[in-house]
Amino acid sequence: MQIVLMGAPGAGKGTQAAKLVKEFSIPQIATGDMFRAAVKEGTELGKQAKACMDAGKLVPDEVTIGIVRERLAKDDCKNGFILDGFPRTVEQADALNGILSELGKKLTAVLNIAVPAEDLIGRSVGRRVCKNCGATYHVDFNAPKVEGICDECGGELYQRADDTVETLTNRLNVYVESTRPLIDYYKRAGLYTEVDGRQHIDKVTEALIKVLTSVNG
Ligand code: ADP
Ligand code: AMP
Repeated sequence: MQIVLMGAPGAGKGTQAAKLVKEFSIPQIATGDMFRAAVKEGTELGKQAKACMDAGKLVPDEVTIGIVRERLAKDDCKNGFILDGFPRTVEQADALNGILSELGKKLTAVLNIAVPAEDLIGRSVGRRVCKNCGATYHVDFNAPKVEGICDECGGELYQRADDTVETLTNRLNVYVESTRPLIDYYKRAGLYTEVDGRQHIDKVTEALIKVLTSVNG
């Protein structure tokens, strides 16, 4: 099952991808996580990505497409994957079609987690992420049992450097300009389904699983 999880920044893609990984036993491929790992390692890719991420801009298409091409060729993607945060431009979506056809695969579904613009800044500013395992929390909507500590692994929670009101404003503009057109792109391809992302986290998961179970026969 090859899934694309779409949604504006803060819509809940990472939160839901983690649940779908457990449900379907296929890996989550999150370009944002891959860039953050490269920043932490201090690689050339990390340096280039950091400048874009801090400004709330997209990392250039050729760089992003390159890391996804390499990642999808790995063995653990054989039975499928959940793309979280990729594609974000029409050029990336076109490239994904090419990568998939090289691998002899097709997209199963594109699921958009729809959340109204007015909710997005609050979701991202309140987001906390585990330094150790990457689990995502929210200070109000999905608080950990002990403040600042990950329920899953006991790791320390941190606030992402790009989860500031200023950077988020840029990220939301970039979403509208470059990523939202993919809704029509995937509607035309007959792959698109929208799920109401204003519901409780578990309800969103249920809705996504329902769609995936029906499209996967
Ligand atoms: P994305 O990966 O789309 O940027 P995240 O999954 O990181 O989004 O979610 C952004 C923030 O919103 C996190 O703090 C998360 O805990 C919270 N969140 C996710 N889904 C919901 C939901 N359905 N209701 C309320 N808060 C949510
Ligand atoms: P995310 O973790 O999905 O919120 O992504 C964080 C940041 O990583 C974005 O604001 C971009 O700077 C960069 N990024 C993640 N995915 C992509 C992508 N598909 N194309 C370009 N830049 C990306």
